[in-house]
Amino acid sequence: MDEKPSFSFIIPIHNEVEVFNQLIDRLMMLDSKIEGICEFILIDDGSTDGSDQLIENVSLNNPLFKAIFLTRNFGHQKALSAGLDNVEGEYIMMVDADLQDPPEMFFEFYAKMKEGYDVVYGIRKKRKEGFLKRLAYKGYYQLLNRISNFKMPKDAGDFAMFNAAVARAINRNREEGRYLRGLRSWVGFKQMGIPYERDKRAAGEPSYTLKKLLTLALDGIMNFTTLPIKLLTAMGLSCIFLSIIYLFITLLRKYLYGDVPSGFTALLFMIILFGGFQLFSLGIIGEYIQRIFFQVKKRPLYLIKKTIKNSKIYYE
Ligand code: UDP
Ligand code: MG
Repeated sequence: MDEKPSFSFIIPIHNEVEVFNQLIDRLMMLDSKIEGICEFILIDDGSTDGSDQLIENVSLNNPLFKAIFLTRNFGHQKALSAGLDNVEGEYIMMVDADLQDPPEMFFEFYAKMKEGYDVVYGIRKKRKEGFLKRLAYKGYYQLLNRISNFKMPKDAGDFAMFNAAVARAINRNREEGRYLRGLRSWVGFKQMGIPYERDKRAAGEPSYTLKKLLTLALDGIMNFTTLPIKLLTAMGLSCIFLSIIYLFITLLRKYLYGDVPSGFTALLFMIILFGGFQLFSLGIIGEYIQRIFFQVKKRPLYLIKKTIKNSKIYYE
């Protein structure tokens, strides 16, 4: 199998012994139905339950499977990134190992790609998680969608297919706080979402702990929005504004009605005013830090889809 694959599947794996065989069966079944050469890239993200051994066995015995072993647990997003750096196919699909996202969606995704889309992502129709978790997800995506300065689809995870040009564009972003679904939106191109039902995990336990989930959520907000800093500035300005109104009312009362302002009033005014100044200054410093932050990321300034020179089209 030295021919270049057309389809690359990226499958991050962290402690998935319980689903592993099912996963391999499903993928081999899928491969038999796909016309064209596939590669399945299994990324071992520092498994400690023997998944790495299983990955090694299967990839040594079946050239359909390629394996990347990370030196320790770097987390889902970085494992996906390691896969993305090593794809060879024209079309790339990211799939979870626990079979929550049906790999067979390949056909629907691919059909849309053939219609001319560059990115097709899955939109989770119904979540099979508990009420609170569902509510939290919904609120989060709603918020992110509202406050980000480009279009971020709601209820879309990493489950998606895109072409090699998109993969290259994503890979040019080497930022550390990785939020791939954000980068995937950020790169632009022609995108669309397909609703699908997210299954229960086939077996085993999720290794996304609450802490990891919160980190991911925070990465989404901090790396793609500037709202927190703007909030600081706005709060500072409101405090200054309010304290000045307060001062005016107090002065009016003094000169119109002869009310003598108490020491407490004066103190309150000072506290709110200076609190406002401080918040406002923090906001300004925040604006600088935010610029430094995005500069340090070294994201590409823009991405080019294609250029035409001497009547010939060049794709990036
Ligand atoms: N995963 C990983 N590294 C981690 C945690 C998870 O590579 O540190 C993999 C895991 O094996 C699975 C996918 O990422 O294939 C999604 O993880 P999980 O099912 O725990 O997350 P959830 O579906 O609850 O979001
Ligand atoms: Mg899962």
